Amino acid sequence: MKKEKLKKRTRILILLLIILIIGFLIPQNLKMPVQGAGKSDYHPESFWFYPWGKSVTHKGVDVFAKKGTAIHSATSGLVLYAGNIKMGGKVLVVLGPKWRLHYYAHLDEIRTTPLSFVGKKTCIGTVGATGNAAGKAPHLHYSILTIVPYPWRIDSDRQGWKKMFFLNPIAYF
Ligand SMILES: [Zn+2]
Repeated sequence: MKKEKLKKRTRILILLLIILIIGFLIPQNLKMPVQGAGKSDYHPESFWFYPWGKSVTHKGVDVFAKKGTAIHSATSGLVLYAGNIKMGGKVLVVLGPKWRLHYYAHLDEIRTTPLSFVGKKTCIGTVGATGNAAGKAPHLHYSILTIVPYPWRIDSDRQGWKKMFFLNPIAYF
């Protein structure tokens, strides 16, 4: 009996490990999510910029565009959350390749729903100034967070330990 249980547990563990590995094998091939945006539409050093209000450091990039500009998913993925929160306004969370979460904030309109599969050609929303971007120039706040931490990325910056989770999107544009 005990042996059977152990076997079952081992099988489940192996299965989970395989799923984890498959996730890492899916290529990311990230694409700039804001339609028509280029290098002049974001600050090259905006990631981890300090000071940054309540967030202390800026854990993403702000891509400026006209209100209503289409946002396409930066990677293929699964929409985990679509809704309204205080700081981010209208936001989306998409689970992409390599167990990374892609966070899109300050949207004017959300054009997808939770549990939808999205691709790089899917319009998931439009650029806006919702949440704490109200009254500021419309922009997309875009962050990439890895669920599996990368502790070797921790440095002596302010909140540097959080760099094991937050990746610099600009490095992938
Ligand atoms: Zn931002």
